[in-house]
Amino acid sequence: MNCLLCQGIVSSDLTLSKIFSLQRLNPVPVCDTCLKQFVALSTVKTCCECGRKLTANSIDPCQDCVKWHQQFPHLFVNQALFEYNAAMKAYMRQYKFLGDYRLRAVFNQLMVSKLKSFRSSIVVIPVHPSTIQRRGFNQVRGLCEGVQLLDCLKTRYETKKQRQSEKGRFQRLKTEQPFELIPEKASLITNQSVVIVDDVYTTGTTIRHAASLLYRAGASSVSGLTLAR
Ligand SMILES: [Zn+2]
Ligand SMILES: [Zn+2]
Repeated sequence: MNCLLCQGIVSSDLTLSKIFSLQRLNPVPVCDTCLKQFVALSTVKTCCECGRKLTANSIDPCQDCVKWHQQFPHLFVNQALFEYNAAMKAYMRQYKFLGDYRLRAVFNQLMVSKLKSFRSSIVVIPVHPSTIQRRGFNQVRGLCEGVQLLDCLKTRYETKKQRQSEKGRFQRLKTEQPFELIPEKASLITNQSVVIVDDVYTTGTTIRHAASLLYRAGASSVSGLTLAR
């Protein structure tokens, strides 16, 4: 078996399984050298709300999360599995932007196993139809392959395009809701505990807007799971 990331030979060492104490995971098609570049956040001190790695003297929740409280007062806790370091950025580039759909297999079992532990309805951050057309897939759905998803959100516009082309974008993106509920699905959210899944938590804008929408639709609790932070 060759490594999906570097084409090197894969030994049968279950590094990911060991890190997350999930013995049931099958070996992933990635070599040990590549796997070791990913830094699991489960072993370090992280922000209790967004899941980022904290330094010794940072406050918990972190400054960013404290700021978000003004805009989104509802409780929202995100769990992130890995640091968004150079290796994870390279992975995302190969998976998402070069469109190598096989790469979902690197983290799929881990994501599915984590998602099942939430015992909640699973909502994936939607991708704009034009992005799907360009890329050929929704990268987050790929990571979640094998669990049942509740498709209740859709995008209102293509966020990436807007981000590149508009001025004053940060303020707008911070305040403008990028998603809307699919009306026929809205009732499925009422009194449900929901977990929102995304690939990367960067500013928190995307997932917090989605969380806010689900709370307004009557969800009893909303939490997050992201592959990276
Ligand atoms: Zn490798
Ligand atoms: Zn935080």
